[in-house]
Amino acid sequence: MRLLLVEDDVELANGLASSLAQAGYEADIAHDGRAAMAACADAGYSLIILDRGLPDMAGLEALRRLRLGAVKTPVLILTARDETQDRVAGLDMGGDDYLAKPFVVAELEARIRALLRRGEPVGATLSFGLVH
Ligand code: CA
Repeated sequence: MRLLLVEDDVELANGLASSLAQAGYEADIAHDGRAAMAACADAGYSLIILDRGLPDMAGLEALRRLRLGAVKTPVLILTARDETQDRVAGLDMGGDDYLAKPFVVAELEARIRALLRRGEPVGATLSFGLVH
C-alpha cells in the first residue's frame, strides 16, 4: 500500500514515514506542493496525507489543483490550525478527513485505515475475504 506524505517539516515527515513503514505502508515524501503534484502525476497512491502549510503553496491550493486534475485519491489533511472554519474549508476543497497537530500517530493510523476501508471496491473486499 503506497501513501504520499506531503509535509515540509523534514523531521516530522521522516518520523511519520518510518511509523507508517512499521504499520506496513510504503510512504513517499514530498516536501512541497510542486513535488506533491509531480508525485501524483507519476504514481498511483492509495492515500495522500497533506500538510496545510507548505512553503510554495497552501496545502489547500495543492489539493484544489489535484482535484481539478481529476486526482480522486483520498486526502487526509494535517494542520496546525483547528478552527471549525479551517476544517470546513479543507473538507469543502476536496479533503476526506482532517487531523490537527499535534496528533498521536495511533490516531493518524486509525484514520488512514478508515479512509482506505472506505475506498475499497466491493470486489476487492470479497476476494480478500476468500483468501482468509
Ligand atoms: Ca508545514
